[in-house]
Amino acid sequence: MNTKRISSTLETFNQFGRNNETGGINRIAFTHHERLAALKFSMLCQQEGLNVYFDLMGNVIARRNGKYSNLQPVLIGSHIDTVIDGGEFDGLLGVVSALEVVRHLNDNNIETDHPIEIIAFSAEESTRFNQATLGSKYFCGFLTQDAMRKIEDNDGEILYDVVQSLKQDVSTTVLPRKQKDIKAFLEMHIEQGPILQNKHKDIGIVTHIAAPHRFKLKLEGTTSHSGSTPMPMRRDALTAASEVILAVENIGQQFHKEGVVATVGYANVHPNTMNAIPGDVTLLIDVRGKTTRPREQVVSEIQKKISEITTRRGIEYKLLDLGQEEPVALNQQIAKIIESSASLLNISHRYMFSGAGHDAMNLAKICPTSMIFIPCKDGISHSPLESTTIEQIEKGTQVLIDTILQVSKKEVIC
Ligand SMILES: [Zn+2]
Repeated sequence: MNTKRISSTLETFNQFGRNNETGGINRIAFTHHERLAALKFSMLCQQEGLNVYFDLMGNVIARRNGKYSNLQPVLIGSHIDTVIDGGEFDGLLGVVSALEVVRHLNDNNIETDHPIEIIAFSAEESTRFNQATLGSKYFCGFLTQDAMRKIEDNDGEILYDVVQSLKQDVSTTVLPRKQKDIKAFLEMHIEQGPILQNKHKDIGIVTHIAAPHRFKLKLEGTTSHSGSTPMPMRRDALTAASEVILAVENIGQQFHKEGVVATVGYANVHPNTMNAIPGDVTLLIDVRGKTTRPREQVVSEIQKKISEITTRRGIEYKLLDLGQEEPVALNQQIAKIIESSASLLNISHRYMFSGAGHDAMNLAKICPTSMIFIPCKDGISHSPLESTTIEQIEKGTQVLIDTILQVSKKEVIC
């Protein structure tokens, strides 16, 4: 592997969409800069002798044949889009490290048993369409063209129409994949959290990807004059909301060891003025867990607490369920291969779950899937301050290469 080449390739891609004032990267799904990056990826793959395809969603798929062309491919990759003013590594690192795996194989004339496919997914971030991992959802067959006609971006543009404009590049023969079409999927990604840095570990082997259950809580008290309403006669929706917020935090803390986090990230106060007792407050509650059971326990504790607080305070409430997703368990065999690759290379590691969602969530439903995390500075991501070191990238990529060399062997079963 060639560390300098990884750095310069990252830099090549990050010229697409860099905001020179903030240093942030702006490759929003299907914008000019994001598509330039996708095209650049396809060109770099062609230079490596790969067969390159675009599918209807603008995912770029590049194939390196193996010894046995009838075997299922081993897939490696991540996404190429970013949030607004995002960082240099979220997504891109997994795409560039996948390219480095192929370059390493080419440099050393290594023929793998299974074909290798590398992929740059489109539209992983929810920035534009308010839904995440759209590219990999399509790739895995979970996003139909009908569903695409119902997804709008923030300006009212329809996803289906947006991707039509890419059509000159599209070969309609590139169909979504089905169960058992792929031998295994590997995604390398920055952690986007502080655990690896705090625990002084070089890589994280991801066992689960947590998923959210979300609620909208509307609290209704009485808006009245802050001067003339005596304290015992108030129905203050904001003080009730404050108790709810603290309760959500408290219950989350009690279930921390079971891999649950609970957050109130949004509050809207009405009338939100100095001289009125707030009569209406809306909160958004986000509960995530690496497994469903403790997460749902937290949800029911929160529901009980909301009922208790509002009854005591004489506040009406409506709790709207905004929906839930299933947490995903990743493949244990590949995790073991990652672990032994890391051990042989003397690279420190720990098993962990991912609190954030990734393309790997979708792939895990159709093939054995695993993820390698590397530390990022202070856990900061989705920000121009997102950062990691070339040493960490080198260690992660080394483990990725060794893991792929194993997984792409005919006799290795995942
Ligand atoms: Zn990402």
